[in-house]
Amino acid sequence: MNQPADAAPAPPPAKAPIGSLRTLWPFVSRHRGLFTAWLVALACSSAATLTLPKAFGTMIDQGFAQGGGAAIDRAFLLLFVVAVALALATAARFYFVSLLGEKVVADLRERLYGHLVGLDLGFHDRNRSGELVSRLTADAELLRSVIGSTMSVALRSVVTFLGSLTMLFVTSPRLAAFALLGIPLAVLPIVLGARRLQKISRASQDRVADANALAAETLGAVPTVQAHAREPYERGRFASALQTAVATAGRRIRAQAWVTAIAIVLVFGAITLVLWSGAHDVASGRMTAGTLGQFVLYALIGGGSVGALAEVWNELQRAAGGMGRISELLEETPAISAPAAPTGLPAPVRGDIVLDHVTFHYPQRPDAPALEDFSLHVQPGETVALVGPSGAGKSTVFSMLLRFHDPQAGQVKVDNVDLRQLDPAALREAIALVPQHPTIFATNARDNIRYGRLDASDAEVDAAVRAAHAADFVAALPERLDTQLGERGARLSGGQQQRIAIARALLKDAPILLLDEATSALDAQSERAVQQALETLMEGRTTLVIAHRLATVLKADRIVVMDHGRIVAEGRHEQLLAQDGLYAELARLQFID
Ligand code: ADP
Repeated sequence: MNQPADAAPAPPPAKAPIGSLRTLWPFVSRHRGLFTAWLVALACSSAATLTLPKAFGTMIDQGFAQGGGAAIDRAFLLLFVVAVALALATAARFYFVSLLGEKVVADLRERLYGHLVGLDLGFHDRNRSGELVSRLTADAELLRSVIGSTMSVALRSVVTFLGSLTMLFVTSPRLAAFALLGIPLAVLPIVLGARRLQKISRASQDRVADANALAAETLGAVPTVQAHAREPYERGRFASALQTAVATAGRRIRAQAWVTAIAIVLVFGAITLVLWSGAHDVASGRMTAGTLGQFVLYALIGGGSVGALAEVWNELQRAAGGMGRISELLEETPAISAPAAPTGLPAPVRGDIVLDHVTFHYPQRPDAPALEDFSLHVQPGETVALVGPSGAGKSTVFSMLLRFHDPQAGQVKVDNVDLRQLDPAALREAIALVPQHPTIFATNARDNIRYGRLDASDAEVDAAVRAAHAADFVAALPERLDTQLGERGARLSGGQQQRIAIARALLKDAPILLLDEATSALDAQSERAVQQALETLMEGRTTLVIAHRLATVLKADRIVVMDHGRIVAEGRHEQLLAQDGLYAELARLQFID
């Protein structure tokens, strides 16, 4: 479990967030081959790095001191061979670990997306899609750099630090003891700074996610924004969200800059001190120049790796924050799932629908039931029109049937099977939904219609287009069914979008139809085409329709009038009109001019 930074319990806070990187391991271990190859390359490059100062010292003492041509050749050749080995091992290390990073992050994204898309609608109501997208992109990106470079640098730094420390003692125990005094001095402020950073970095990522969510929401609703002439307002809101993000990031960057500066000063201060002492040793003949040179190189490598470790430590914590947020999402269990042994629906599905004393309130509104003691039985093949003022609970009836939510009391049944005993996927296979505002994906018309049944043949798509009375306008599109429809169907009129949705439902050919009629007025011709298409679609199916058209309520077998989550009247048009109740009032407002 990932704890929020300020609620971390007993263990030191610097350790807790790095711990959440452990959840990455299952993703890394799936690529064992790459991982092992990386470790081998890392071992080789570290060994070469640590051999370099030794070769350098030998070169100074033997290559220069004795002046023999053969000795010079050998010393320089040795140096060159080590350098080539270092180059090859470094290239291999880079290759393996970068590839590993790409693969792991692709896996992670796939897993996260797969999980998110399957989570229940209650979850998606609670979480803004912009924020989820940010985790899928920004947080995952952070992890890519962690595996592809940070993790590599961290491990390499630890190895070279330990290696160079050992070699320092081998080279000159006295000077090494000196150096050892400086290192704890350098590490202490780094650890302290890192603790502070960990808190700030999470806050900084949250602010970026806020700004992203804002942009995603408003860019997704540009017509609304522009219709209200709220561009300046939205620009202002986005700018201030960005400002907050930059201010929070600024705090993180400042802290990180200080940690780095202090670490470098301390490390190099210690090295200068040691050099000064070493220079005296060489002057008095207690040490050769080559040995001092070799010592200096080991000290530089060791100091450098401490500095690198300080830098990547901070980055590791940022990534741990990202991984923490991703794990939180991966641990989210869907509130709606299939039981261990789901009951199957009878084949063929008859389409008998029962809502039995259903009471339901949305999770965020526990005090206001959207449906209250709601009972309705729809016979196979029957068409029932739901009518009622906005907020009466009509769409909620659809959500119950699709099992987007479970009721708090009562039962929902299809063909006498409680929905909770079914696999939600099997249930939804049996239902076609034509929403008020159909979703049109940014692809061509054919694929949009085929969303109803992915394996439908071209001929079947054509038949659905004709049955949906969409053939005329499709024929007028520049590339007919292959025409790209633009994001959310920007290139289609409302009536055309509806007919695409109807064609999609026809293709799906499900026994139960949930239809939410569009309220927006269509031109007479479009209206007639949509009406005819709907009639074709409703034929032989159990249909529940949220009705906004007179033609629809007149044709319905039964009209159910809803208010405040309850049924207030039931019957046919004339009967209900005669009662002169809520229906008569609605009919006057809605259906009859
Ligand atoms: P209708 O379709 O008749 O207009 P709805 O079924 O959409 O009514 O809504 C019924 C009630 O539930 C309303 O009070 C509405 O505000 C509330 N409601 C609808 N959807 C949600 C939601 N996702 N979260 C919280 N409350 C909701």
